[in-house]
Amino acid sequence: MSAKKGFVLCVCQGTCPSFTKMDIFGVLADVRREKIFDYVCLHPQLCVGDGEEFLKVLLSGGETEKLYIAACDPQMQCKMYRDAFEAVGFDKANHVALDIRNKTTEEAVAAIKAMAVNNP
Ligand code: SF4
Repeated sequence: MSAKKGFVLCVCQGTCPSFTKMDIFGVLADVRREKIFDYVCLHPQLCVGDGEEFLKVLLSGGETEKLYIAACDPQMQCKMYRDAFEAVGFDKANHVALDIRNKTTEEAVAAIKAMAVNNP
């Protein structure tokens, strides 16, 4: 049984003004360097059909115990990913959501680190 911690950064296609203050790849590079998660990835738009498909494929093997998603409003995340989680039997309690909109690279990295520390 593996119990991996995964991290997804979702950025509204990278074009939304909420994500222009941060260097998206800089955030990912810093998070990787800190080795906070077992894996990290970037998705341009988790809340559309292929994003839902991505979540299903990612979680269907059951290897991910906890999925940390840095994106938009946490309550919106819960609603938007619910069907995908239910489809593969991923307990929504193991989804940790963080709003990183309108943050600089440094602010986003700090918030991601805090999320991981507060939700081990
Ligand atoms: S899940 Fe949130 S951050 Fe990601 S594309 Fe949809 S609205 Fe944007």
